[in-house]
Amino acid sequence: MRIFKGKRFTIYQLNSGKFALDGGAMFGVVPKALWSRLIPPDDLNRIPMATHPLLVETEKGWVLIEAGLGTGWDEKFKKIYDVTEEDPFADAPVGRDEVALVIQTHLHFDHAGELATPEGEFRYKAPVVVQAMEWADALYPHERSRASYPERRIRALEDHVRPVSGSGEVWPGIYVHRTGGHTRGHQIVVIRDEDRLFVFTGDLLPTRHHAPLPYVMAYDLFPEDMLFARKYWYDLFLRERAILFTPHDRAPFAGEMYVDEKGKHRLREIQPDGD
Ligand SMILES: [Zn+2]
Repeated sequence: MRIFKGKRFTIYQLNSGKFALDGGAMFGVVPKALWSRLIPPDDLNRIPMATHPLLVETEKGWVLIEAGLGTGWDEKFKKIYDVTEEDPFADAPVGRDEVALVIQTHLHFDHAGELATPEGEFRYKAPVVVQAMEWADALYPHERSRASYPERRIRALEDHVRPVSGSGEVWPGIYVHRTGGHTRGHQIVVIRDEDRLFVFTGDLLPTRHHAPLPYVMAYDLFPEDMLFARKYWYDLFLRERAILFTPHDRAPFAGEMYVDEKGKHRLREIQPDGD
């Protein structure tokens, strides 16, 4: 767990499981000759990843930005995705019951699996903010998205989802914005501190290595929408010098965006205030 201290908010970056996905699928049209230098793949062409939710301390209570991969996966699943399970609350300052609101960028298993047990038991007392479109797509997946939405864990959310549409302030100082791209209902989460923006990027920026505009995943259902969403949000990230939290770097990452001498977007790492 790592700590970032703002003026209004304190952010705890948690560890909710390690896993691995196909490197080619993670980097879309980028040739392996390029991406394999950034993250070397294993002998099954998988690259090491992880899930890092944010637990945010606010004046009004605790907000969890994503739950992550979580625990309780079966052996076959663990083998395919090279899973190492981690309990995100093992070293957290509060327990699940103290969380007052959960915000999900979307409901794929690597972002939302931890919300429920494999048997389909919801593990929190808080409502789960997600875009209405994402909720519909998770409940009624199609052939290409089905593997990302484990049915029992999704059904467990049924009485707990608080669907939203578009953009809005869902907690004092905490905003969601639908980006589309990865899924139709994918959203990012923006925390407005007094003089700084903290952003949980979700799969708009899955890892620190995905910053260049064309580094869009083959997993994205609408890759062109993702490109346009990036162009829009990158402008704001640069202008506001936002502190960006990526979900999937193997080692937890926070950074600031900049444009290098070749005009390529990149992320510069920011160190936490404590751990
Ligand atoms: Zn993801």
